[in-house]
Amino acid sequence: MSERLVSLGKREGEVRPRPAPAPGAPRVYVETYGCQMNVADSDLLGGVLADAGYATASRADDADVIVINTCAVREKAEERVIARAGELASLKRKKPGTVLAIVGCMAEHLKEGLADRAPTVDVIAGPDSYRRMPELLAAARAHRRGDAPPLIDVKLDKAETYEGLSNAAGLEGGDPVSGFVTIQRGCDKFCTFCVVPFTRGRERGTSPREVLRQVRELVAAGLREVTLLGQTVNSYRWPAEDGEVVTFAELLRAVARVDGIERIRFTSPYPVDFTDDVIAAIAEEPKICKYVHLPVQSGSDVVLERMRRGYTVDDFRGIVARLRHAMPHIALSTDILSGFSGETEADHQATLALMREIRFDSAFMFAYSERDLTFAAKKLPDDVDEPTKKRRLTEIVQLQEIISAEVFAAHVGRPERVLVHGPSKRDATQLMGRTDGFKTVILPSGVGAVGELVDVTIARATMATLFA
Ligand code: SF4
Repeated sequence: MSERLVSLGKREGEVRPRPAPAPGAPRVYVETYGCQMNVADSDLLGGVLADAGYATASRADDADVIVINTCAVREKAEERVIARAGELASLKRKKPGTVLAIVGCMAEHLKEGLADRAPTVDVIAGPDSYRRMPELLAAARAHRRGDAPPLIDVKLDKAETYEGLSNAAGLEGGDPVSGFVTIQRGCDKFCTFCVVPFTRGRERGTSPREVLRQVRELVAAGLREVTLLGQTVNSYRWPAEDGEVVTFAELLRAVARVDGIERIRFTSPYPVDFTDDVIAAIAEEPKICKYVHLPVQSGSDVVLERMRRGYTVDDFRGIVARLRHAMPHIALSTDILSGFSGETEADHQATLALMREIRFDSAFMFAYSERDLTFAAKKLPDDVDEPTKKRRLTEIVQLQEIISAEVFAAHVGRPERVLVHGPSKRDATQLMGRTDGFKTVILPSGVGAVGELVDVTIARATMATLFA
């Protein structure tokens, strides 16, 4: 099957050149909050608007259209967007005619209610409405005045995978080395705490032909690394015309054979969908990075059950064991959600114990905040008090910092192959790159050019950065 996939869609003209914007073209500034899916969606939106004739602005002050691409996973993320919309209100007063669009998960979550909290918003659009953004923005630029209600487009579309669109790869201000291809949208898992199935709709895959076309488009734009994205990316399945099913493992192997791509990553996998064929593909294909983000959420079976995660702690241990058996040096990161409904001190201690046992390289750690629409908000009490949530989260973060510092320190003296991404943010005289295991490395300038793979030895480490 994968050999058949490799040749899929290899046709002349599939990588479309994009004309430069006309002089005086309207300028759009896109600001992104939340996960990598949102970063990819902002790229897609940038591409849609570039195709519609927009030029890119690098600051909100220089833009005719400001798009905020939002996240609804945590209440804090929504509060930040409301605060940002408030800041932009004064810019809109100074520059009447500037259009503010709030798009993505929070727009889908709050719909017209968003206008009550962000009265200066002109366009509210959900994650399945990006194809229509040029029309929505044109209408808002032409007609919206003063207190008129915003234009709203939040219809979820089970069929929308944005097939055939080109993202913003290679446009001014974009990442010159690494890009995203969304291979799956939506989620069918319905974990009880999570609002994503309600804001992004049901799971649907992008056709393998389209995935490969987009990967080749990134290569043509000069990129060397691709991250395949999906809410539960390894549950990807595509029913092919011949009645067979294209699996995630087959898609991974086909992407690994695209000429010019040097590194392939994917996120976020769903633990129980880590089948042996996927593990074999990662282990056997040199271009697939030996790094997996494996969201555990809790180390307690009772809590996992209440979260409806579909695995026990032992199941999770088994997945980690299979990955480490196939790839002893694989890097693992995780997500941990502290203070979920009914979490006892013993549950919390079980999470800390599991962290000590697995020793993730890094982790994204959060305190639970209830999200309406979810099963937990409707049926499970948010009964861990805030000081306890805060204290438990602090203990989790402190433990992870110790583990990360030890894991990073173990790299000192070791050789690493690093893909150079660009100048270091802190010191432009140095370079920033990443290891195969997704660790940030600071390199002396002159060791390699942006987009090159260079072999270095790690000289020192902090808990989040390696220095070559
Ligand atoms: S798998 Fe669970 S946590 Fe992840 S997006 Fe789907 S519902 Fe949310």
